[in-house]
Amino acid sequence: MPTLRAQDELQLLDRALVDAEASWQERALCAQTDPESFFPEKGGSTRDAKQTCLKCEVRTDCLEYALENDERFGIWGGMSERERRKFKKRVDGRPDLTIAS
Ligand code: SF4
Repeated sequence: MPTLRAQDELQLLDRALVDAEASWQERALCAQTDPESFFPEKGGSTRDAKQTCLKCEVRTDCLEYALENDERFGIWGGMSERERRKFKKRVDGRPDLTIAS
C-alpha cells in the first residue's frame, strides 16, 4: 500500500480542518436570523443576539473559533468582545496544573 507523502498528508489535514470549520458554521443559528443584531452599534443592545446564541447547537465551536482567532467585533458564542476578553484573561491566568514527567 503506498504511503502518503508529507505534503499530501498536510493537504488532507488542511481539508479536514476547513470541512470541520464549515460544518459548524453551516449549522449556525445566526445564519437564519438578523445578522445585524450580532454586530450592534456601540452601546446598542446585544440581548437578542445572546438569546439566539443560547439556543444555538454550535455555541462552543463558535466561541472557541472567536477566542482562537481573536475576533474583535460582534457577538460570538453568546459573548461580546469585552466578555471574551475577560474570559480569556481569566482562563490565561489559571495556574498550570500540568504534571511534569
Ligand atoms: S453561538 Fe451565536 S454567534 Fe455563534 S453561531 Fe451560534 S448563533 Fe451564531
